[in-house]
Amino acid sequence: MFKYCPKCQSSDISFEGQRYWDCGNCDFVYFHNTAAGVAGLIKYRNQLLFTVRAKNPEQGKLDLPGGFVDYHETLEQGLSRELTEELSLTIAPQKWQYFCSFPNQYLYKNINYHTIDSVFACELDQKPEVQLEKAEIQEARWIALDEIDVSKIAFPSLANAVTQFIEME
Ligand SMILES: [Zn+2]
Repeated sequence: MFKYCPKCQSSDISFEGQRYWDCGNCDFVYFHNTAAGVAGLIKYRNQLLFTVRAKNPEQGKLDLPGGFVDYHETLEQGLSRELTEELSLTIAPQKWQYFCSFPNQYLYKNINYHTIDSVFACELDQKPEVQLEKAEIQEARWIALDEIDVSKIAFPSLANAVTQFIEME
């Protein structure tokens, strides 16, 4: 990620234990901490809502709605915000039920982000209208629980979460 120290430009910089950058020439230290991700399992009758990724990584693969949590947000607020942005779907933060979490890695523009993806579930009593954010999402797809092909899901962490969810239903 860094070839030179961003503070003193020394090349004596190393990524210690794959956790933090440490400069041998000045006091620069930068922790590349785990980032918080959230994803939603949105169920209507026997179907789950998936999105199809419009961009890399994993363009064209199935994904769950969600994304990265912003500063000062709760996990539930972050998830509700992402749903509004991605699908124009309003689900109040207090409607989410925590389901499980999985570690994940997300390579974006040659930087590998380690994430912890927290997965929340919500059951709807009506099938909502969705409007896609085209830059991020190709398609929204409702798939019956017994017809989900988990090998088509972009990230192993979310494939694990979906598998666990199907087994519990
Ligand atoms: Zn330095």
